[in-house]
Amino acid sequence: MICCKECLELLHDYLEGDLQPEVSTSLEEHFEDCPPCIAFVNTYKSTTHLCKTTLNSTEIPDIVKERLKEFVDKNKNA
Ligand SMILES: [Zn+2]
Repeated sequence: MICCKECLELLHDYLEGDLQPEVSTSLEEHFEDCPPCIAFVNTYKSTTHLCKTTLNSTEIPDIVKERLKEFVDKNKNA
């Protein structure tokens, strides 16, 4: 099973379609049971879209790293 932290680490590749099919499936299964991750995916999508159009970079921007960290911390305590 994939944990939230792994989901977040895999998210970029998932959205780019770079993951193995079975990993994508595991992620999707996790999302089904994890509304906070779905919310995060939506945030991530809009954030990376903005960054891509301005920076044309595949690096995760600092703001997203911060959000990831906050998200994981919050989720750990839930
Ligand atoms: Zn999750």
